[in-house]
Amino acid sequence: MNIIENDFSWKGSLEKRTATDHIILHHRAGEGDAKSIHQGHLKNGWSGMGYHFYIRKDGSIFRGRPIDTVGAHTLGKNAVSVGICFEGNYHDYDKKMPKAQLDSGKELISYLRGLFPDAQVKRHCDFQATACPGQYFPFDEVSASSIVLLETPEEITKELSKKHFNIDDPRGFILALTKAKKENSPMYWGYYKLVNPTKNRLV
Ligand SMILES: [Zn+2]
Repeated sequence: MNIIENDFSWKGSLEKRTATDHIILHHRAGEGDAKSIHQGHLKNGWSGMGYHFYIRKDGSIFRGRPIDTVGAHTLGKNAVSVGICFEGNYHDYDKKMPKAQLDSGKELISYLRGLFPDAQVKRHCDFQATACPGQYFPFDEVSASSIVLLETPEEITKELSKKHFNIDDPRGFILALTKAKKENSPMYWGYYKLVNPTKNRLV
């Protein structure tokens, strides 16, 4: 998964988030790049883009606010949630989400579920009187079919030694696997696949 970083300047300092109970999905109710959201939200008097991620129709994923900060997207829930915005208007005219955008949404949500295993995936309208993310938004598809929890190198090592072979030096192996995971190396995905043969990729 590729997250495109931004070079936004934020107005004021962004507050750190201490809990993540929800991953909240939004639609943009329109089109345009990530920067135009940032500029629009600055104009609202906010610190800048209120979402943590923005997924365009072509599937590209942009970072908004840093993942560990409080967003500005769902009144009353910003301190305990991560906000994802999907380009398009899934209430009025976009009746089918492009596959690239859907796949990226699933991938990002899987990744976030790994980071925040206790967080529930919700729609903006679950918390506020709004149509967002819209009547045509494929919520079940984007949220339910991607439940793959990120496994730690420790868990992988345990499963591997149970299922496949004896590991003489689990500590060294865990260190190597941790490094491979950090570097997103094929070795990590290779071992992950040994443990989870039906999954092609973790996130
Ligand atoms: Zn919304």
